[in-house]
Amino acid sequence: MAEFTMELNEDQREVRDWIHGFAADVMRPAAAEWDEREETPWPVIQEAAKIGIYSLDFYAQQFFDPTGLGIPMTMEELFWGDAGIGLSIVGTGLAAVGVLANGTEEQIGTWVPQMYGDADDVKLAAFCSSEPDAGSDVAAMRTRAVYDEAKDEWVLNGTKTWATNGGIAGVHVVVAVVDPELGSKGHASFIVPPGTPGLAQGQKFKKHGIRASHTAEVVLEDVRVPGHCLLGGKDKLDERLARARERARSDGERVKNAAMATFEASRPAVGAMAVGTARAAYEEALDYARTRTQFGRPIIDNQGVAFQLADMRTQIDAARLLVWRASWMATTGKPFTSAEGSMSKLFASETAKKVTAQAVQILGGNGFTREYPVERMHRDAAIYTIFEGTSEIQRLVIARTVSGMPIR
Ligand SMILES: Cc1cc2nc3c(=O)[nH]c(=O)nc-3n(C[C@H](O)[C@H](O)[C@H](O)COP(=O)(O)OP(=O)(O)OC[C@H]3O[C@@H](n4cnc5c(N)ncnc54)[C@H](O)[C@@H]3O)c2cc1C
Repeated sequence: MAEFTMELNEDQREVRDWIHGFAADVMRPAAAEWDEREETPWPVIQEAAKIGIYSLDFYAQQFFDPTGLGIPMTMEELFWGDAGIGLSIVGTGLAAVGVLANGTEEQIGTWVPQMYGDADDVKLAAFCSSEPDAGSDVAAMRTRAVYDEAKDEWVLNGTKTWATNGGIAGVHVVVAVVDPELGSKGHASFIVPPGTPGLAQGQKFKKHGIRASHTAEVVLEDVRVPGHCLLGGKDKLDERLARARERARSDGERVKNAAMATFEASRPAVGAMAVGTARAAYEEALDYARTRTQFGRPIIDNQGVAFQLADMRTQIDAARLLVWRASWMATTGKPFTSAEGSMSKLFASETAKKVTAQAVQILGGNGFTREYPVERMHRDAAIYTIFEGTSEIQRLVIARTVSGMPIR
């Protein structure tokens, strides 16, 4: 029987240190520049691709780590390096997971490698679900996919928003409504191959944080994709829709759903990103507090400062433990009976917001300037309580799961 341990094994430590080296030597020095430019840091992604950190193989290896810690460990180190560049590096993974979760083996083999490209010709991918009127309430989605049987093609129309890498990606994965009567049960996911006519980038957003990551609207106008681009295939979709219609009839009402219960297993990865940003800010604050002198002594000599650092460190460690627990549960097939995935994302993202704000305070005036990285980290941390389900939605998921009540 496997011994209980909370230590990373030797292989994991080696990978962690390798990613940390890239984060410290390549990402951190580039972070301020790409934050100011508000552009995708292609040269950094290319460097990551050259050494294998931006590659399907690497993420597959981490994903299949039997302890479940490969992905959170990777995310923490990359986002310790920089959150904006980190999201540019791992954003493709969102679309890849969309295909891995719903695609056939053939679709996975065809499309996922194309999402990454290779070190000489790096590509990005985008996952497009959110819409202007369908954020937390995924069931309000309006983008339609209609099947043209004569041509065996799907025709997509609608506007997606907030898509990471939207419009600059090669492959786009688009979630669309195939049966509006069924709420989110009537949704399906489609591959839109590179260069498909009718798909265009809309507004590119100027953001508060993670500015090195591209976020944009994606407009779909009579976008035609071949039948084989429906993830999972037509037979499986027809069976799923038939089952959902049957259930809707027997429930006597339209099937209702919201973003709530989805993504439970992917949320710890976002929690790990938040832990990375929080740890980075905490380390900056600790260093500063040791060296900055006021009233003839280092500011850390004041309990008011030292206790803040003690709380910051405690909360970061607690967040990591929740993230690791949820990741281990997801990998070992344990059911999330108390929404442990949402718990980890909720706690880690709120911790990152709090800890980065405290770091700004500990650095005083310097913390408020772009001369020091905590200002950027504080802006970056604000995203974690918003994407992949806001903190309020995480609380709804947890409250409903632990109570069994339809809390609104
Ligand atoms: C930088 C960035 C990158 C993103 N990347 C992607 C991406 O790649 N692909 C993609 O599909 N999406 C992406 N998103 C979208 C993101 O997932 C949504 O922004 C998020 O789900 C929230 O939706 P919304 O912005 O419409 O907010 P809303 O749903 O309108 O929420 C507004 C406020 O109301 C609260 N609220 C809503 N409903 C309830 C409720 N029932 N109870 C209590 N409070 C509630 C929310 O918590 C929030 O505080 C990204 C967003 C950003 C900002």
